[in-house]
Amino acid sequence: MRIGILGLQGAVREHRLSLQACGLLPENIITVKKPGELDDLQGLVIPGGESTTLGLLMTKYGFLEPIREKARQGMGILGTCAGMVLLAGKINGHRQPTLGLLEMEIVRNGFGRQIESFETELFLPDIDTHPGGTKPFPAVFIRAPYGINPGPRVQVLAALGEKIVLARQGKLLACAFHPELTADYRLHRYFLSLIAESHDE
Ligand code: GLN
Repeated sequence: MRIGILGLQGAVREHRLSLQACGLLPENIITVKKPGELDDLQGLVIPGGESTTLGLLMTKYGFLEPIREKARQGMGILGTCAGMVLLAGKINGHRQPTLGLLEMEIVRNGFGRQIESFETELFLPDIDTHPGGTKPFPAVFIRAPYGINPGPRVQVLAALGEKIVLARQGKLLACAFHPELTADYRLHRYFLSLIAESHDE
């Protein structure tokens, strides 16, 4: 299995280490800097950063359509924080280029200025393969977005009140927090397991 990490901006190294911790060999983790490098990937990580900048860079380097096409062909995508914004199509109050693959609206910087960053424990029963499934996930939020109005194909995996912070649509996984900043690899492992499923919707 070959997984790419979009290397235009953001926490590339941390995602690489998390994927390695899940057992992926370093040579099968590609830092993607050009659209041609998407060709033989089964999965792509879009890291956090600044979604407007990332969107502009993705437009400038011609990434948007090739990523959409690969997603249509079954490539999995994990979008964390700004990456979650980029997966979606409708961003509240902002006009910015995105992939428009995820059928969910996004509230950018949705947790407000007062709490720009915080950590909380999330229970993720759908992804927790732990016997008993009770170990909470340490979720680090940094100027995070959240989702609202999920479409019928979207499975909500975690929410804080009404605010959706983890959602899946087929092989797309949108995560408002930063799993790459903690030594808990269950989310990366879950992403790899979605990719490994041969038949999906
Ligand atoms: N607030 C940023 C944005 O909307 C995301 C922040 C992050 O990725 N940590 O682009």
